[in-house]
Amino acid sequence: MPFVVTDSCIRCKYTDCVEVCPMDCFRQGPNFLVIVPEDCIDCSMCVPECPVGAIYNQADLPDEQRHFAEINARLAAHPDWKPITRSQPPLPDHEAWREVANKLEFLEQA
Ligand code: SF4
Ligand code: SF4
Repeated sequence: MPFVVTDSCIRCKYTDCVEVCPMDCFRQGPNFLVIVPEDCIDCSMCVPECPVGAIYNQADLPDEQRHFAEINARLAAHPDWKPITRSQPPLPDHEAWREVANKLEFLEQA
């Protein structure tokens, strides 16, 4: 099953993950990244790159993160969410948001 970006990425967006993806699967919005499920080959190379452990195989998503499979698929198809293949600086407040849980209300979709 494809890999999925979850809650920890919101408002951090470190982007270490994008450099290693052989399929250029990542798309970025204002304060979150998603994986294009149809493009992901399940290699898992992105998982250890994420400093906040935001990436899971869809089959292994914790119950409280399951809704992120639908969110990744939907936002990956959003016309304003563009490919990102090169790492960039994290968002300015990333340290403050790094340990915060349940950030879905802050996800900016476009
Ligand atoms: S490395 Fe983790 S926090 Fe950073 S953009 Fe990728 S998924 Fe989001
Ligand atoms: S599992 Fe592999 S193909 Fe899928 S997003 Fe991560 S690095 Fe890319």
